[in-house]
Amino acid sequence: MFKIIAAVLITLYFAFQLFLSILKYKNRNAPIPEEVADVYEKDTYLKWKQYSAEKIRIDIISSCVEYVLVMVLLLTNLFAILTRSIDNPYVSAIVILSIYLLATAITGIPTSYIDTIKIEGKYGFNKSSIKTFVVDQIKYLVLSFALTIGLTCAFIAIHQGIGDYTLLLFTALVFAFMLFINFLYPFLSKFFNKFTPLEEGELRASLTAMLEKYGYHVRDIKVMDASRRTTKSNAYFTGFGKSKTIVLYDNLIKVLSTRQITAVFAHEMGHGLHKDVFVNTLRSFFSIALFVVLGWLLVKFPQIHADFGFENISYGLAVILLIHAVLPIVSTFIGLLSSFLSRKAEYRADEQAVIEGYGEELIEALKILARENFADLNPPTLVVKLSYSHPTLVQRIRHIKEKEAN
Ligand SMILES: [Zn+2]
Repeated sequence: MFKIIAAVLITLYFAFQLFLSILKYKNRNAPIPEEVADVYEKDTYLKWKQYSAEKIRIDIISSCVEYVLVMVLLLTNLFAILTRSIDNPYVSAIVILSIYLLATAITGIPTSYIDTIKIEGKYGFNKSSIKTFVVDQIKYLVLSFALTIGLTCAFIAIHQGIGDYTLLLFTALVFAFMLFINFLYPFLSKFFNKFTPLEEGELRASLTAMLEKYGYHVRDIKVMDASRRTTKSNAYFTGFGKSKTIVLYDNLIKVLSTRQITAVFAHEMGHGLHKDVFVNTLRSFFSIALFVVLGWLLVKFPQIHADFGFENISYGLAVILLIHAVLPIVSTFIGLLSSFLSRKAEYRADEQAVIEGYGEELIEALKILARENFADLNPPTLVVKLSYSHPTLVQRIRHIKEKEAN
């Protein structure tokens, strides 16, 4: 019974993703709004259509591969058969999760290779050598092993020790861990990239002035060597409280003017003023609490595990069911609400740039970044509603112009 429910949930989610991909594929040919008509040259737009078609196709292939793999692993009771002679819950979970992680990593390599090296390379985005690609894959695998197995073992220890109180303690623990990772992020990212301080000059002075105006003490402004992997651009803040490190992709400095980068900063200041990071953290706390409740439910009913051939509760199985059968469906609904709130916060942050007198520069910057990132100018409404943390370029431009007119 539970096996059928799991299979139905996994299949439903897979079919829904497929439906969204087809929607995106069809929507590529819809006419683009005039506000963004100048983002791409005609030839470039044709190239974008081809690029996005290839991306959607590889996405579909990779979700098919994952779907088949997970269905086979679960429906054949393979995990129970392989761990029949193991009594220790930790060893059993580690064996199951290792098989699962290795199988998904190995089956994911071909599509990931085609995506990052072939497709991104064909359109001139990829800068990773094969060596960087292989090393990255290994690093990600090591990290996901450490994270998944570490968290699962912590859950087992707590669940075996205090039973139902796991809900409280594990939620607190995961949340603390998440804050810790956030705190560690600057160090973790050094694992993948190099960071150098932004050189003294007009840009540094302009950004520092903006930050000081809002009472932020900047620990440092750093430039990340993103161009080692990609030609795409981005910028972000790390660190807590008023002491922040700002990271700029080296690509960003190449494509935007000082005023445009300052406009992007005014937007980031808007997030700071409205405590968006804090609200986000609160939101993730509630999601984590909900996920822990779901995980706890999965180990509450031995019948679930019996359906997959286990004699006892299998924590490894619970994790895989959580990742593939429960979370995708639940996250889709959470995503509707949280991406709505996040888009609202983005509009508010854009308004800050308008208040600072950088509205036009922000529009220019957003257009350049959209072009540099080969962004979708006209995504299907349903996809935006479900998953876009930012409004679309057209929506943002309209909103900025509206605010400027007031
Ligand atoms: Zn933002």
